[in-house]
Parts: sequence; C-alpha cells; structure tokens
Amino acid sequence: MSVSNDLSGTVVLVTGASSGIGEATARAMAAHGAHVALVARRADRLEALAMSIRGNYGSALVIEADIADEVHARRAVARTVEEFGRLDTLVNNAGLMLLGPIADADSADWTRMIDINVRALMHCTHAALPHLRTAAGDGSRRVADVVNISSVAGRVARAGAGAYNATKFAVGAFSEALRQEVTSAHVRVSLVEPGAVDTELLDQNPAAMQEALRARLGDLERLQAGDVAHAVAYIVTRPRHVAINELLIRPTEQVP
Ligand code: NDP
Repeated sequence: MSVSNDLSGTVVLVTGASSGIGEATARAMAAHGAHVALVARRADRLEALAMSIRGNYGSALVIEADIADEVHARRAVARTVEEFGRLDTLVNNAGLMLLGPIADADSADWTRMIDINVRALMHCTHAALPHLRTAAGDGSRRVADVVNISSVAGRVARAGAGAYNATKFAVGAFSEALRQEVTSAHVRVSLVEPGAVDTELLDQNPAAMQEALRARLGDLERLQAGDVAHAVAYIVTRPRHVAINELLIRPTEQVP
C-alpha cells in the first residue's frame, strides 16, 4: 500500500515505542514521512525498530530512557530537538496497567502507574510545549500535535481496575485542560481511548490475574496495535483547521 508523505519534514516523539501501540505508531508516523524519536527502557527493542524504520522509510533516533524519572523525561524531549532540530508531534503512549482490588493492593504498584501513566506524560508534555508552539508557528504544516493514549478505562471505571482507572481519568482531565490552553496556538491535543488491544500490557500482572482477564475477554477479537496506530495517524494527518479531540476505539464485540 502506498502511503502519502504528508508528515515529511516533521518530527514525532513516541514514548513507549519498544512494543505494542507505541511501536506500531512509530512505524505509522515514519510511513507518513516523519522523523521519529523512539523512547523506552528496552534499548534492544528500540534499536531493532530503528533499523527497520531506517531500512523502509527514513530516520529514527533511539532514546533509552526511564521517563518515570522527570529528568529523563525532559532529557528525552531535549535530545529529540538536539538531533532533529524541531518537534511537531508528541505521542504520550508509555504506560503500565497493574490490576487488582484496591483493598488488596500494594501501594507501590499505584506509585509505579502514576509515575508512568500520569507524571511522565505531564513532564514530557511540559518539556515539549515550547517546541510544539514553535512548530505550529513556523512549520510547513503550521500545526502541532499532542496525542495522549488513554483508554476505555479513562471513561468507565470498574472494580479491580481502580488505580489504573484513576491514572487514565487523570490523563483525560489533563488533556482537556491543556487543549483549552493551547488550541488557539494551533497545538492540537487529542485523547485516544482504546478498548482491549492485543499487546504485552497485561504481562506485568501475576499469572492468575492474566488468566482471569483472558477468561473474561473470552474469544473476543481484540484490536491489533496497528489499529490504534492507524487512528493516531488519522488524527495527526488532518488539515490544520480540523482537531480530533477524542477518539474512542473498541473491538467491535467489546461491550463495557
Ligand atoms: P505495552 O506493554 O506493549 O507497551 C507499553 C510501553 O510503555 C512499552 O514500550 C514500555 O517500554 C513503555 N514503558 C513502560 N514504562 C516505561 C518507563 N518507565 N519509561 C519508558 N517507557 C516505559 O502495552 P500497550 O502497547 O498496550 O500500551 C501502550 C499504551 O496503551 C498504554 O498507555 C496503555 O495504558 C494503553 N492502552 C492499552 C490497551 C490494551 O488493551 N493493550 C487498552 C487501552 C489503552 P519499556 O518496557 O521498554 O520501557
């Protein structure tokens, strides 16, 4: 399939690019002609992705970083701009989902989720904003984007997911406030809320928890990471006057 190069010359930073939705999104951005900065902790995965992107599309920069650490989050943005000279699009995708009832929880798990799902997203965004404003002011497209990957769990709370719900609801609130603050500068802020996607996200949970969730999903045909990447690509390739503020994307058979 031929893809138009409508992001050519632009620079996209994707957090959590070492697997799942982030990896697929980085590929999709590169396929549209963007230079991509790939951020995550697993450098081997990022190097393999960068090699593939360079072989098929164009330039890719590997940034090994634990962005739960504010210093590393800010440095990842700075490194991208040092290397490519600009930043047009930030995709805040890195995340962690640790499930279980609130009363039984290890509160250290809550801290880990808040640190990556919320604080890292806020710090990357804060560091990126001056560069996004510049890109929206002087870039050939005259528009820039922040795309925040939330979840159906950011709209619908359920027993057994309370802390994860709390982080994703926070992402929704932060995104809407930011949208109101920067949209007149043509920095668009979009919230993407996927339902069940076939990725490694569940693997961080105890085996029994993984089993229980898989049993609940049954033979439901989950989304593929590429389906969500396609949605992100749709958002960022809209014309300057069109802002997709929110995009809820479920597997067709998923009910709640
Ligand atoms: P994956 O587990 O495949 O991807 C998570 C990514 O986050 C990895 O690349 C991981 O990289 C990165 N990451 C985690 N912690 C850190 C950290 N401290 N610093 C840097 N990077 C980090 O899962 P998904 O692709 O499914 O998840 C991507 C996003 O999509 C998440 O925000 C998730 O909440 C959301 N989502 C997923 C759904 C699903 O059903 N899968 C549904 C709805 C939303 P590394 O480990 O190399 O650091």
